[in-house]
Amino acid sequence: MTHLSTRASGARRGAQVLQRLRDRPPAIWYQGEPVRDVTSHPALKGGVHTLAHLYDLQWEKPDLSLYPSPTSGNKVARSFMMPKTHDELASISRAMKVWADYTFGMMGRVPDYINRAITGYASGAPFLSEADPRFGANAVRYYEYLRENDLCLTHTLIPPQANRAVSSAHQSDPYLAARIKEETDAGMVIRGARMLATLPVSDEIMVFPSTLLKSQEEDAPYAFGFCIPTDTPGLRFICRESVDYGRSHFDHPLGSRFEEMDALVVFDDVFVPWENVLLHRDIKHCNEAYARTGAVVNMTHQVVVKNIAKCEFLLGLASLLVNAIGAEVFQHIQEKLAEIWVNLETMKAFLRAAEADAQLDEWGVMRPAWDPLDAARNLFPRLYPRMIEIIQQIGASGLVAMPTEADIKGPLAQDIRKYYQAARAEALDRIPLFRLAWDASISAFASRQVLYERFFFGDPVRMAGALVTGHNKQIQQYAEKVRTFVKQNRDEAFTQASG
Ligand SMILES: Cc1cc2nc3c(=O)[nH]c(=O)nc-3n(C[C@H](O)[C@H](O)[C@H](O)COP(=O)(O)OP(=O)(O)OC[C@H]3O[C@@H](n4cnc5c(N)ncnc54)[C@H](O)[C@@H]3O)c2cc1C
Repeated sequence: MTHLSTRASGARRGAQVLQRLRDRPPAIWYQGEPVRDVTSHPALKGGVHTLAHLYDLQWEKPDLSLYPSPTSGNKVARSFMMPKTHDELASISRAMKVWADYTFGMMGRVPDYINRAITGYASGAPFLSEADPRFGANAVRYYEYLRENDLCLTHTLIPPQANRAVSSAHQSDPYLAARIKEETDAGMVIRGARMLATLPVSDEIMVFPSTLLKSQEEDAPYAFGFCIPTDTPGLRFICRESVDYGRSHFDHPLGSRFEEMDALVVFDDVFVPWENVLLHRDIKHCNEAYARTGAVVNMTHQVVVKNIAKCEFLLGLASLLVNAIGAEVFQHIQEKLAEIWVNLETMKAFLRAAEADAQLDEWGVMRPAWDPLDAARNLFPRLYPRMIEIIQQIGASGLVAMPTEADIKGPLAQDIRKYYQAARAEALDRIPLFRLAWDASISAFASRQVLYERFFFGDPVRMAGALVTGHNKQIQQYAEKVRTFVKQNRDEAFTQASG
């Protein structure tokens, strides 16, 4: 690929991440203005500095987080590994857990998510080559470029939410959804928009279709996959309002650290060289690429690790709230803690089953079993909002009767020390705990987390539909068993009646 010439040194550290974002800023717009430096902008800097810290973390535990590159020998992120054994596969989820633990799972789009996707595309490169031999080679080259340079990717899959009753080709403007405008010997030009890209403060963007394309003729201009730098001319990211605009860690303990931001992506005649293209005008390969290459399994593997970290966090938080206000004496409180515990064990069981039942796929890579991961991704969007409801039910008015850092340092400090105490916590211990619970359950950050868990992997309704279609054969086996039993009952009754 044309932009792949950077000299590689393997796994990055935080300072390099920040420097690259300063040297090559993505074209990010916030509240009507371009953002010159994402590392210092109040709406973005919290998440950016956490991102940088994650890269430092991988060097704090290099044996866990890194492995030697098969091409350069440099230490590279383990999330790029193409595992050949069960042990190697498990080592990837242990590495992913380090980052998930640091963010309590609250930054779903830490770079290992897309690292796993690109690793899937590269390992399934023969599938992309079926469409065009250049595309398989591009996938492998791009994957190696990412791995050796340890870059961070955002991604965007779905067209803007204008009219969901009709396809992209039938919107009021054919260039509302990102579409191929023209092709030249050197590449293709894309015009239109995609929604949504989380973590726009990334070095590169992966653009793939996720909704099922149907018509070869109409949908072909919308059928493509490519990766380009986020500072490519013509590319623009329009951010939503920040859930945390420069507030202190004390006041917004989660939002001030883990705001990963979401943005609509505009392609204003963006030129994509052929070397960056992985899919082109090919409905069949676009629709099948996610599943066949292993990209979606790899991504879901990361998601379940994130879910575990989130359950652990909520269990710890709920238990501290209960203890602080002496609520453990009530039986329904015990039941609520038990519910979170069961969710945690369920996610751990899915992960364990997926890794234990992993098999070498058609490309020779140890692929986690899909069924437990698919079950997890269908279940968690229902579990997460319920766990947040539990935090609200336990915290009650304590979640809003909550002074800020300025209040505590102000003239009413004596009032605050007296009236905000809890059964087992001084006011100055109780307040930060309840501020954390507030940021996990009712703040703008918390609401966005709930929305994220409901939708980030796709519409839960259509995911459930895909699950049923994908498992129809197994479902029919169980149906056959029940049918035999029903028939037996009927036959017995009629035999007796006639006898
Ligand atoms: C916080 C957050 C972060 C996200 N980050 C990313 C990201 O980084 N990259 C990315 O690519 N995407 C991202 N997404 C988008 C995600 O992929 C979509 O939310 C998801 O695919 C659902 O699409 P939609 O939001 O456009 O909902 P819509 O498709 O517009 O659905 C709206 C409603 O209509 C119903 N509906 C629409 N069409 C149908 C249909 N055909 N059949 C039945 N019901 C239908 C849905 O069930 C839903 O209730 C993110 C989403 C959120 C909320």
